Amino acid sequence: MKIWKILSPKVLAEEEKPDNITTETQAKVKITQILLTGEELRTYCGVYKPKYPVVPGRFAVGVVAEAGPGCLNVEKNTRVYVHDVTPCGECEYCAAGEPEECTDTKVAGLNRNGYMRDFVVAEESDLSPLPPSVNDDEALFIGVISVCEEVIARLNVTKGMHVAVIGAGELGNILSQLLIYHQAVPVLIDSDEEKLALAARCGIYYTLNSDAELEENINRITGGRFASGSVYCSFCGLPSDLPFSITATGGTVVYAGFSFPEISAQLKTALDKRLTLTAVTNDYSNNAAAINLLVNKAVNLAPFRIQKRPVADADKIFAAEAEKNEKGLRMNYSILNML
Ligand SMILES: [Zn+2]
Repeated sequence: MKIWKILSPKVLAEEEKPDNITTETQAKVKITQILLTGEELRTYCGVYKPKYPVVPGRFAVGVVAEAGPGCLNVEKNTRVYVHDVTPCGECEYCAAGEPEECTDTKVAGLNRNGYMRDFVVAEESDLSPLPPSVNDDEALFIGVISVCEEVIARLNVTKGMHVAVIGAGELGNILSQLLIYHQAVPVLIDSDEEKLALAARCGIYYTLNSDAELEENINRITGGRFASGSVYCSFCGLPSDLPFSITATGGTVVYAGFSFPEISAQLKTALDKRLTLTAVTNDYSNNAAAINLLVNKAVNLAPFRIQKRPVADADKIFAAEAEKNEKGLRMNYSILNML
């Protein structure tokens, strides 16, 4: 099997390695495409010193090439989402048969091998079969939607509740769309007018620039109550204490993302307002719900116009994105075709 590995900062290499089914409940999956997000790029660039070598690729879809005799939900040719987060199988919760409570989850491309490879052998329980109405491009977002659903659960979203979402990248945009689906009222905030315009095309009606008038504008939209909850999207580039000034007294602030940079924030406002600060990352309990949301067309991904590129160009793509990153430009998600 062919595997792509990042050996050291900005060194991507290909390797051949045999890998076969070893238990009856495993399946061998042909990876068809993966989603490239800022996570892969940060690993490539060596931000936060990952433990090299790393097989990148957190979000992947594929087709079952071979299923063990004990597999009940997948067979040869089943299209699947390969779970990005999996339970460790070793902690006290996993040992007690409660993997959803796992305290040491493993994340593809972060603390275990990712999916930038031609085949992967996985336990059937780590594969979600895809319904025909969810195409491969949409299915790559199952992990993203799963994290968003956990954020929404953490906020105890109710009908008409104002939620400030800081950062209008893919995560903030999709979260805002899902908040609307759950009948909340998102206010999406960014300094990038292009991203806000894209959000408007996705049907998000309150978008605000993070300028000097932000507080006043939030005040106006919420009728003077401020946001009941706020979500700060990891790596959005905006001040990490921005949520404190626009969240109502006693409200909740969720920091959300696939990983977090070094963050420091001035806490006084949060303490004066008795805000609850919490974080959502690496959720995997909502994969089934995420698939259902895609079936119900709760998220419109079309305006993103996500580029699809061949894996043969991986070297060039990573190098070009790294150069953009050094100039302070944010990376847009793209799809890597692994066929
Ligand atoms: Zn565990």
